[in-house]
Amino acid sequence: MAPFNMPESVYQAYKSDFQNGVVTLGNLCSAKCTFCSQYWNPSGVIQNLERLLTWEEVKHFIDEYLVKVGENPHVSPSIGSALHANSGEFFLHPNAARILEYLKTNNKLEDNQMVISNGMNFRKEHIELLKGLKIGIQLSLFATDVSARMDVMKGSLSQNQRAIDTLDLFESQGIEYGVTIVPYKKYLRNGVMEKIFSDLKGHHVKEFVMHKPGYTKLTPANIVEELNIPDQELLDFGAMIWDKYQMNVRIEGVLPVEKNVSEFLRLSKSLEPLRNLGNKFKLFLCSPKAHSLIKLVLRKMEMQDYELKPVESHVFGGSVDCAGLLTVEDYVIAINEYLTGGGKKVDFIVMSKRSFDINKEDLKMVSVYKLEEIFNAKVLLV
Ligand code: SF4
Repeated sequence: MAPFNMPESVYQAYKSDFQNGVVTLGNLCSAKCTFCSQYWNPSGVIQNLERLLTWEEVKHFIDEYLVKVGENPHVSPSIGSALHANSGEFFLHPNAARILEYLKTNNKLEDNQMVISNGMNFRKEHIELLKGLKIGIQLSLFATDVSARMDVMKGSLSQNQRAIDTLDLFESQGIEYGVTIVPYKKYLRNGVMEKIFSDLKGHHVKEFVMHKPGYTKLTPANIVEELNIPDQELLDFGAMIWDKYQMNVRIEGVLPVEKNVSEFLRLSKSLEPLRNLGNKFKLFLCSPKAHSLIKLVLRKMEMQDYELKPVESHVFGGSVDCAGLLTVEDYVIAINEYLTGGGKKVDFIVMSKRSFDINKEDLKMVSVYKLEEIFNAKVLLV
């Protein structure tokens, strides 16, 4: 039985977040963005706890599991990762200041840590505390124009205005911050997105990120339509903003994965032992997102006797393209496709450990070892 009367799966989900350097406090949020995956994704994908963690619970997860960034260069550190499927708004928590203070005094904060917030709930004590911290602040101002922001978020007018005021407050206090914007097709095409940049011209925004969120087959069609912007259109928009305003926009979820050098090195290292498997045939299964990177890694390593196959998400569907949302059912479909398409007898099935929890079960609690029974092959998780 998990501590604090939490369902085991919820406990494990929080534990995994903290082990990955992500401080999440619950999935409650004051913004209710129309695109937010926590409103549309199947319940198994998010932590099913309809409240914020208590101070005791947060302290427990920090003390037991928070991995310091410096100790593990592969973790992606953030506090209140508002753009992840499984988090809400950090500063909505009544103990947000106490938690930040605790992280700071216990030496759990690294300089490259990032606080992510929708900007609606800052109080005086938060601002004072942030002034003293050497960490990045990324405000998710999905459209700084209030009417567009109202459309994208369901917060009240005063809440939305407050988020924009936060930006000015940061400016006046000399607090460095970045801005994240979610591009909506209509706002990209009718000039509102560009207006955001022209309005921010006098500000000292450290980093602009345009983040293209994912969606599933449960996401309403009109939102999918708004999010479905061709990558090239976004890249062209980024180039135009640079030309016109000399602002550098990082576009997330678009650029080729080959550019991700640290992930390339990590993968090369973890796949190295597979070169010693003699002429045993290996079937590498990966997410569509990781496909070009793994293809490159395998080629550079001169791996022998293998086939690489991207696996589509049939269970969650939509634009799901990361390994974390793939299930055993998806892998079974992919292997059967490979075999019926004339594939060789498989000795080893090599797949991402990101699809499974510490018990080696997927989001539907199905064990990865079911694949060994079905296909009479050995499973290797990397
Ligand atoms: S601010 Fe982030 S967590 Fe909150 S509703 Fe919007 S996308 Fe979701």
